[in-house]
Amino acid sequence: MVVKGESRMGTKIDGNTHLFAVIGDPIAQSISPEMHNRIFEKMNANKAYMPLRIKPQDVEGAIPLLRDNFKGFNVTIPHKQEIMKYLDEIDQRAKDYGAVNTVKIENGKLKGYNTDGLGFVRSIEKEGIKLKDKRVLLLGAGGSSRVVAYELLLGGCHVTVSNRNLKRAEELKKELIKSTGNQNIDACDLEQIKKGYHYIVNATPVGTYPATEAMAISEDAIGGAELVYDLIYNPDQTKLLKAAAAGGSRTINGFPMLFYQAVKAQEIWLGQPIPEEVTAQVFEEMKSYVLKKLGK
Ligand code: NAP
Repeated sequence: MVVKGESRMGTKIDGNTHLFAVIGDPIAQSISPEMHNRIFEKMNANKAYMPLRIKPQDVEGAIPLLRDNFKGFNVTIPHKQEIMKYLDEIDQRAKDYGAVNTVKIENGKLKGYNTDGLGFVRSIEKEGIKLKDKRVLLLGAGGSSRVVAYELLLGGCHVTVSNRNLKRAEELKKELIKSTGNQNIDACDLEQIKKGYHYIVNATPVGTYPATEAMAISEDAIGGAELVYDLIYNPDQTKLLKAAAAGGSRTINGFPMLFYQAVKAQEIWLGQPIPEEVTAQVFEEMKSYVLKKLGK
């Protein structure tokens, strides 16, 4: 979707264009094409990125077309696990997460990666935030919580996974101890949160548009945390982030993670870092694009 008032050049496609895609169902809402094509344009690359709606029952059948025509693709809901069956190789991180969001195609072979966690880490590093020895309260025990907890443990944090379904949090804890070999993790019920965490990360959808008045924890439970990070980016400032900022906490929303996981995917496809001036420029452009799309 091109936001009214934007002045992007159209992407020209010819027989030498390297093609990339995002596969999912539904897919029309994805902002990935906008992000990736902007980066390609800035790098003056003959590359193009498109959304492809692929229904769950059609994933296997789509593989030959993807293999023979594309250099790589992203994978989104609901195919992040299913795609793993059809890959020739899977990177260790993606195996540990149990999900693939990026596939690189080289010499007819498909290799799966997952850049979500690296996107999270890069968004934290960009802000100069240190992870070592920090106590982190992580809300939720789903797919994104697993990824974030994995990276926090690797970064040297102590993580408390808090979920309304305690059993699921306990299971996640066990799996993370196994995959990371790190024991610095515990689990608790969302109703029984104690104060005193350095950082709080919301990896639940609570507070997402249109239910923007909801918060996964009470204002009181924020308890003066140094940083509150909400993976949600719609709205731009959730009720949790507003309450945290009002109490003096530093805040980050879900947009930087989304952006940097895309940058990391491109770096995997291209086999080299994207120049900092390109990422900085596209980051600012996409931030305004998303705000406009959200009607701000
Ligand atoms: P998921 O796998 O479905 O997990 C959702 C988690 O939230 C579960 O632990 C669930 O608890 C909990 N939850 C759901 N509704 C709740 C409620 N009303 N009250 C309390 N807890 C609730 O989802 P996900 O893929 O991890 O995504 C979570 C959020 O992160 C979404 O908003 C998603 O858009 C966002 N996200 C952002 C990025 C980014 O790049 N910024 C990347 C990935 C995800 P139960 O176990 O009890 O059901």
